[in-house]
Amino acid sequence: MRDHTKEGSLRFQAATYVIASAALFAAIAARWLLDGFLGNSSILVTVYGAVAVAVWAGGYRPAVLVAALGYLACHFLFLEPRGTFDWSTAKDTVGLMAYLFTCSLLIAIGEAMRLAQRRSRERGELLQASLAEQQKFVTLVENSTDFIGMCDLAGVPFYVNPAGLKMVGLESVEQARRTHVREFFLPGDQARIMDEFFPSVMEKGHGEIEVRFRNFRTGGTVWMAYKVLALTDAAGRKFGFATVSQDVSERRRLEDSLRTMASDLSEADRRKDEFLAMLAHELRNPLAPLLNAVHLLKWEGSNGANGLMAVEMMERQVKQLVRLVDDLLDVSRIKQDRLELRKGRTELATVIEQAVHACTPLAQSARHELLVCVPPQPVHLYADSARLIQVFANLLNNACKYTAASGRILLHAERQGSYAVVTVEDNGIGIPHDKLERIFDMFTQVDQSCERSRSGLGIGLTLAKRLVQMHGGSIEASSPGEGLGSKFVVRLPAMDAPELRRATASRSDVRTPTRRILVVDDNQDGADALAALLRLQGHETFVAHDGSGALAAAESHRPELVLLDIGLPLLDGYEVCRRIREHPWGRNMRLVALTGWSQEEDRCKSGDAGFDGHLVKPVSDTALASLLAPAAAEIPA
Ligand code: ADP
Repeated sequence: MRDHTKEGSLRFQAATYVIASAALFAAIAARWLLDGFLGNSSILVTVYGAVAVAVWAGGYRPAVLVAALGYLACHFLFLEPRGTFDWSTAKDTVGLMAYLFTCSLLIAIGEAMRLAQRRSRERGELLQASLAEQQKFVTLVENSTDFIGMCDLAGVPFYVNPAGLKMVGLESVEQARRTHVREFFLPGDQARIMDEFFPSVMEKGHGEIEVRFRNFRTGGTVWMAYKVLALTDAAGRKFGFATVSQDVSERRRLEDSLRTMASDLSEADRRKDEFLAMLAHELRNPLAPLLNAVHLLKWEGSNGANGLMAVEMMERQVKQLVRLVDDLLDVSRIKQDRLELRKGRTELATVIEQAVHACTPLAQSARHELLVCVPPQPVHLYADSARLIQVFANLLNNACKYTAASGRILLHAERQGSYAVVTVEDNGIGIPHDKLERIFDMFTQVDQSCERSRSGLGIGLTLAKRLVQMHGGSIEASSPGEGLGSKFVVRLPAMDAPELRRATASRSDVRTPTRRILVVDDNQDGADALAALLRLQGHETFVAHDGSGALAAAESHRPELVLLDIGLPLLDGYEVCRRIREHPWGRNMRLVALTGWSQEEDRCKSGDAGFDGHLVKPVSDTALASLLAPAAAEIPA
């Protein structure tokens, strides 16, 4: 870069010497032409012009050179005796002095003019540079997305940038000038800003606060990080305020939603803790009678009256445990949005009958009067009957639980247009008005202190609501108040015309043949109990507790049916199934998955592995019976 500049300057200097030489040459030529008129006088008259041109073009150096060469040339060419340098005459010396004086004057004036011109050029350049700098700042301020504004000490704005105008909904800087700074804030904040914030900025020189700005056009508000500094002149006197402020509405909104989320989370956490405590209580409840029943059976066997009572008690308690676990699984499915329905044509009265049947023992033990009123004409639904039984049984159970002994419970069902409407009403403890909406929330119980004794996890209504919604229906709760009973209304879309029911053979007519069955489960008790049950029904059974054992048993015993657990040690159930299928003897063997996983994708997975069916633990009597029926094409899958 520097070399370039140096080269340029050398070139410029050479050019000035060329110009000076040309001017000198022209001056000598002109004197030569004028020689006829001038003769021996004014021999240097044209050289002055050349000196002036040289000083103007290149400064004193070329000018001095031109003056010296010009004098020598003219002396030689035009001074008598011409063609010589004769320095002897006094007249010559005076002429030389006058020439030198005039040339010096010319060079001095020329240099002074050059200097003046250079200075003015430099000043111009400086001015241009500072204007360019200023323009950069103006562009920055005008294009900034922050609110940038200035006002005088009286609070009258004199500048607001375009982004600032937009944020507060003003049209122009003129409009901003007519709006006092106080007006930019909400009435509730004005005193704080004008009487506290600005005086503090005046004192400290700067200040920062988060405050809402008004939007004059929409009437809305914008949260701003309002940063203000005092403006001072060259003498240090304050003459106004400037602000560079950011719109922080989005951040404030996020903070607010985070706060709400945190409080929701801690509420959910609290409810979960309560739920866990209650769950432990609820799970322990059936264990005591179960253990007692086991002791009783040990002492007395199952034949006496006590034995029968113990078995019935065990069945009841196990059913209660199964219900709890099912509810828990449903809760987790709701959370993951994985609750599934198996819909088919369903008759409302049948569903209600089974729900009533399920809660009859509870109603009887509390001596409640249970009235059920269903329409004479069948009302058909396209629904998952098991899930609807669960919904109505839950409502009836609640009615029994939350009604003092000898209460009255009414279930009324009817068709209203294209809907089936089922109402469950009781004259129990009722629900306070402010709790009505919340009772459908997970783990919500109105009064936990006394609810504990009534048993429940606070998830039944959540499940009921979700299930009804999944059927395209709705559920509503109402209550005139505490102690005045409650009413739950379920609405479900009904089907138009009933189809004729296909006649089905009663299962009891069919004799179940004896089968060779291999039961595989790593839970030893589970496998042994199921095998014992199957043996009681007359089947021949084999038991294995891990994957390799299952393979070996299948190969050596060649059972007709294998009930195969999935989560097994050594080889899992899928792998065992695949390996059995690889053998010629295993291709037609009936393999049924026996597992706790019941989602559609679990069923697909077992189908892909080569299973003929998929049963969910604990296996119900009905599922087992249909599996072992002669035309066993109806394996639940
Ligand atoms: P829980 O297992 O506690 O019964 P639910 O989800 O079924 O759970 O019910 C939630 C809460 O709603 C209950 O704890 C109870 O406070 C209230 N509730 C439900 N049904 C009734 C009813 N028929 N009468 C009064 N309160 C009820």
